[in-house]
Amino acid sequence: MEATLQKARTEEPTGIDHALLERYGAIPVPRYTSYPPANHWESKFGELEARETFRTAGSRAASLYVHVPFCRKLCYYCGCNMLVTRSESLVERYLRALELELDRVAALLPSRPEIVQLHLGGGTPTYLDPDQLARLADAIQARFPWKPGIEASIEIHPAVTSVQQIRTLARLGFNRVSMGVQDFDPAVQKRINRKQSFEETRILIEESRALGFVSVNVDLMYGLPLQTVEHFQRTLDRVEQLRPDRIALFGYAHVPTMKKHQGVFETRELPGPADRLALLESSIERLLAAGYVHVGLDHFALEGDELVRARAEGTLRRNFMGYTTCSDSDVLAFGPSAISEVRGTYVQNAREVHDWAKMLEEGRLAAVRGHRPSTEDLARSALIMQLFCSLEVDLESLRRRFPGTLQDLRAEERDLGGLERDGLVSRKGARIRITPRGQLLLRTVAAPFDTYHRADARLHAPAL
Ligand code: SF4
Repeated sequence: MEATLQKARTEEPTGIDHALLERYGAIPVPRYTSYPPANHWESKFGELEARETFRTAGSRAASLYVHVPFCRKLCYYCGCNMLVTRSESLVERYLRALELELDRVAALLPSRPEIVQLHLGGGTPTYLDPDQLARLADAIQARFPWKPGIEASIEIHPAVTSVQQIRTLARLGFNRVSMGVQDFDPAVQKRINRKQSFEETRILIEESRALGFVSVNVDLMYGLPLQTVEHFQRTLDRVEQLRPDRIALFGYAHVPTMKKHQGVFETRELPGPADRLALLESSIERLLAAGYVHVGLDHFALEGDELVRARAEGTLRRNFMGYTTCSDSDVLAFGPSAISEVRGTYVQNAREVHDWAKMLEEGRLAAVRGHRPSTEDLARSALIMQLFCSLEVDLESLRRRFPGTLQDLRAEERDLGGLERDGLVSRKGARIRITPRGQLLLRTVAAPFDTYHRADARLHAPAL
């Protein structure tokens, strides 16, 4: 492990203290796909505020996210907003409501933004058949023309995706796929209620490449029931054979109070903190040895991938879709629970597909909560983003960029002092750097700057 982290950041000596990682790793912290974290947004932020947000959007480029909430079967570990259904009429209602939502947001924006990124997530976007996928893509194109060279990606569940759907997606202009794998071990798959073979995954990836898709991502998950280091290494063997351009390695977040279906897992069958850490360490070691670069948090990419270049050039960014090279763009999001981010203001739709569709059918937007940031929020958001993307931050330059902010940092200083003593950060004047040891705990290192989390630290999954 020592060697692997040195490879990630060669300029500093490193060392892993398991007890320390276990201690920090067990502490719940937000994921920081937004700042403030979504559980601190206001429910009084609704229709009026959402309209105002879109109306004053300015002329920045935009990334589009469309949430397709339907799934064929429930995976027991699932933390997504989804609905298991076979109802064709509900899918039809969803597609009609989505067209209404695209129309309504497009009409509010002062000008048509340049669309630089599109992502279909879920749920299972390939729940939609080829005709429905074409209808959805055409509906988006008609309101928000895609820029040539757009990054157009889609999440794929290999067990419910056909070669024909991949061909349709290629014809529609999609050029990136993200394959949900989690674990190829049959016993783990059975326990999590998600069966998919290596073969069907391989066929879809090969077809995607043959059709000119420029990037293939594979999602893996550690911390699932029955996982062992030895068996998970076999999954990594198989993933290595597929040679995806990117790999996301997520930790399973066990929150049965929020996701009731996760209650089917008994605590004793889940890997404990030490086993989770062993799974994570051995996986990182393996991925780095296989030529992947640890881009940040849970993302890895092959040398030469644009994420790796962006990180080296300081242009890496992070939004709800994960790490991205699309710097300084707004996010316009559609579908149940989707989150738009317009100049730092967050707008979230109703979670349930029925509520979301009803609001749109009644001529409204589907916004039910959001957050308009203060200047202090913007400064702290930029700070946390820099820590995640550049692994260092200069407080003075942020103070110049956001005058009057980041003034009283006594509480932060106390927490940072502890992190520094434990070797997770180093400080020189106003400059804070994350050490190789701290790289596994980015969320933990960011948390001291989160004034909302300081006031209310509930509702988050452990850091590792
Ligand atoms: S396919 Fe994805 S969204 Fe659907 S239940 Fe499984 S993990 Fe959840």
